[in-house]
Amino acid sequence: MRGALGGPRVLLRRLREVMAEPVSAQDRLDKIVVLIAANMVAEVCSVYVLRVDGTLELYATEGLNRTAVHLTVMRIDEGLVGTVAREAEPISLSNAQAHPAFSYRPETGEEIYHSFLGVPILRAGNTLGVLVVQNRAHRSYTEEEIEALQTTAMVLAEIIASGELTAMALPGAEPAARRPLHLKGLALSEGIGLGHVVLHEPRIEVTKVIADDLPAELKRLDGAVDTLRASIDTMLEDEGVARVGEHREILEAYRMFAHDRGWIGRMREAVMTGLTAEGAVERVQSDTRARMLRMTDPYLRERMHDLDDLANRLLRQLTGRTAGSDHDRLPDNAIIVARNMSPAALLDYDRTRIRGLVLEEGAATSHLTIVARALGISAVGHMENVVGQVDAGDAVIVDGVSGEVHIRPPADVESAYAEKVRFRAKRLERYAALRDVPTVTKDGTPIELHLNAGLLVDLPHIEETGATGIGLFRTELQFMIASAFPRTNEQLKLYRSVLDAAGDRPVVFRTLDIGGDKVLPYMRAIEEENPALGWRAIRLGLDRPGLLRSQIRALLRAATGRELRLIFPMVSAVEEYDRAHHIVERELTHLRRHGHGLPERVLVGVMLEVPALLFQLDLLFSRVDFASVGSNDLVQFLYAADRGNSRVADRFDPLAPAALRALKMIIDKAAEYGKPVTLCGELASRPLEALALAAIGYRRLSVSPASYGPVKAMLLELDLPAASAFVEPLLGIRGEVHSLRPQLAAFAAKAGLPL
Ligand code: PEP
Ligand code: MG
Repeated sequence: MRGALGGPRVLLRRLREVMAEPVSAQDRLDKIVVLIAANMVAEVCSVYVLRVDGTLELYATEGLNRTAVHLTVMRIDEGLVGTVAREAEPISLSNAQAHPAFSYRPETGEEIYHSFLGVPILRAGNTLGVLVVQNRAHRSYTEEEIEALQTTAMVLAEIIASGELTAMALPGAEPAARRPLHLKGLALSEGIGLGHVVLHEPRIEVTKVIADDLPAELKRLDGAVDTLRASIDTMLEDEGVARVGEHREILEAYRMFAHDRGWIGRMREAVMTGLTAEGAVERVQSDTRARMLRMTDPYLRERMHDLDDLANRLLRQLTGRTAGSDHDRLPDNAIIVARNMSPAALLDYDRTRIRGLVLEEGAATSHLTIVARALGISAVGHMENVVGQVDAGDAVIVDGVSGEVHIRPPADVESAYAEKVRFRAKRLERYAALRDVPTVTKDGTPIELHLNAGLLVDLPHIEETGATGIGLFRTELQFMIASAFPRTNEQLKLYRSVLDAAGDRPVVFRTLDIGGDKVLPYMRAIEEENPALGWRAIRLGLDRPGLLRSQIRALLRAATGRELRLIFPMVSAVEEYDRAHHIVERELTHLRRHGHGLPERVLVGVMLEVPALLFQLDLLFSRVDFASVGSNDLVQFLYAADRGNSRVADRFDPLAPAALRALKMIIDKAAEYGKPVTLCGELASRPLEALALAAIGYRRLSVSPASYGPVKAMLLELDLPAASAFVEPLLGIRGEVHSLRPQLAAFAAKAGLPL
């Protein structure tokens, strides 16, 4: 670097010494700006810190009037400093005053400086402030100088993020780095959780950023990149992965990045400015994130996650740390923060310690959400970039009712929530008091209110809620959390426990519904363009009858001497039902022939979740014993909107006339044939939606455990004839109506229904 005193490495080493000195935060900043100015042969070096109110405050300067420190405050849309903060990109100008964004502040005395180099102070891609050097002469800063200043800014990011500047700020003007954040997303699972952040994929903390030996660091970096490339190649060559569509594409993208000269080159350059290999990875990743966070193209933003992941792999290589180690150090009140995760990954945690779940993605009817609900973990999704905005251990409040998340909440928010939690506890007590009250609407119509379940942890809920029965037992959950295929005996044991827990209450077991987003980790996945429309559920069961047969056998044997209710998922044609039913008959014959005990009665039904079945209802109802509407899938297929894709899952409302007419068509036809139909999708689990379902004729609902109380409380107050008289004409509305939600909410409010 031209004229630099000792170059960037010497500067970094000096900065490290200053960081270790036991001085006040202001003294530390003052020393740092002097060091940087001297090292860069600049007359001015200033640090601006982004405050909670969105403005930038001058925190330290060498060269400008010292009296301006803590007095000069500018808006983020003002001046060159504001532009650097906003764009999160360096600005280098030999004649700053000629730039249209230049804004002159008389108190600083900066009119005599012509050249300007400003770099953002970044952490995980978020701007914390701006670092500026200025020179009197018209000079052009070299690429190396810009690089070096960006590296130096990393040290300042550490000081700002540590929170040590907060004490010296006026209330309301604290640095934004550790500011409380109030985010609004999508409520996924009811409940309020107060606790501390646990990152599902913990960031690797880089503790040593300043290099002692540059050639050695370059070698380490090159070595780690080589290992990374080799491991991606190995994964791609892996038999199992080679054919799997999505996974393979991700790996191909990784391979492309891992060979990208620009990426590797930037990291090598960062090492040359004096960083350790891991320091360089972190710096380049932070710059890349900053740029990507400002992109609007969803495809490119998605690539940010790939690059994050790749950078993390490199960091793990370099620091020798493995992922997932936080599992063992879970605090008592953990709030898991993740981009997304599989249901099995959630179940891997010690559930007694989890208070909440915050996801960047997530959708209301995805299986992760269903598992979170089953476990009673409050969850919120659609929290963009939340992973980049929290640190492990940060205080968080998850409001799974309103979809809000408070990060590092102020004391008043925390106490308001503590109050809310007490209030909820009282409400739950009121629900508990309804346990033995029969579910009968105000006008005297009995409603069967069942529970959805799928795991052993669900079973105590039957007693707690006093449920009529289990309306849907998702058998695949046991398969999803296992590390190997559950043997027939293990299946039998689980099914027997379920029947025992239910006592004389009915249980509807659904045969394996795998495929789509329900992936079994130990089963080789096959490449499918559209897994939700692919080889899944009963299709797989009929093509691999061995699997289905052994499950049916386990179910029949578990129900010896009792009633067994069985249902098949994702049936699209009557013929599929007939074939599945035939397997049940054959298994019964087999058991009889071998002298095994038999169930007292076997009822066989079908899930109505593929729209084609709506046009085969006569055939279907003339043969099944009962049916269950899977509204999650039915609505997904009716609207052709992927239930697990947060961009479209909630785009269309099931409370629109179109969807309600389809649901009514089913229940009307069932009544004609005298066949019982339950609605077991998540639709029934929300009181307003349950109100609509009851109004169009549904008398059997199966809901998630946390929804039992709220739905029951609503039903007890419901005047069903009035609700039906209100809703039915709305279904006939001509003209465009996207949703009947406002009308239904108004009806409920007028009737004083608890929602
Ligand atoms: C449904 O589709 O509504 C349903 C109950 O099944 P699952 O959510 O398990 O797909
Ligand atoms: Mg389904």
